[in-house]
Amino acid sequence: MRAYDVIFFDLDHTLVDTRQQYHLGVPKAMRALYGDAWPDTFLERFLHHHEQLWPHYDRRTMTMEELRRERFLRAWRDFGIEKDEEEARRFHEAYMAAFPETLRPYPETRRLLEALSPGHRLAIITNGSPDMQWAKVCLCGLDRYFSEDALFISERIGRAKPHPSVYQAAMAGMGVTARDALMIGDNYQADIEGARACGMDAVWYVPDPEGFRALCAQAPDSPLHRADDVVARVRALEAARA
Ligand SMILES: [Mg+2]
Repeated sequence: MRAYDVIFFDLDHTLVDTRQQYHLGVPKAMRALYGDAWPDTFLERFLHHHEQLWPHYDRRTMTMEELRRERFLRAWRDFGIEKDEEEARRFHEAYMAAFPETLRPYPETRRLLEALSPGHRLAIITNGSPDMQWAKVCLCGLDRYFSEDALFISERIGRAKPHPSVYQAAMAGMGVTARDALMIGDNYQADIEGARACGMDAVWYVPDPEGFRALCAQAPDSPLHRADDVVARVRALEAARA
């Protein structure tokens, strides 16, 4: 049995409930701007465009600022209404202001981190926006488990997960080799295949089965949904290490 030195986690949809945050935060921001005068299905269109545009952000062919503007403008356009950049900016401000009330960790996140923090150093590797990720960690009270210098954000590194340079930069930052590190995340391609391609072990964890979608359609195995099962899998992997 040999414990991993560092356990890396993905942040969005793995530790923090990003899906719920959109479902609560977008309507809250819309009410702040428009009262009740906005389409019932706005959120659906907003999320559709968010998901369509995100790969462009990951490939760095679109900035985060452009993504934030475009998902708003395109959602309105689906209802035949043209909005301008200024309104998109005001929406985003209202949306950011809603974060403290709308962002939560998953119910089992603390249980998972409490179980894994003794004996391991914990770190995060995220493809999310540099201006939000540390705030999300703090809002969710996860700064008890992670320090800011253990938060690796792909935009700052250059490429997005699953690109190996992101994993290599995170390992260098923590002073660990792939052999002594483990990755836990919800996105099969970015988190699991990406880590394994660098020689790291990985555990596929999807705490929100309802939000579980085609991201993982071609995966050869199935994800774990419960924190206790993740901890048991980590212990089993460690028990098998020489
Ligand atoms: Mg994720």
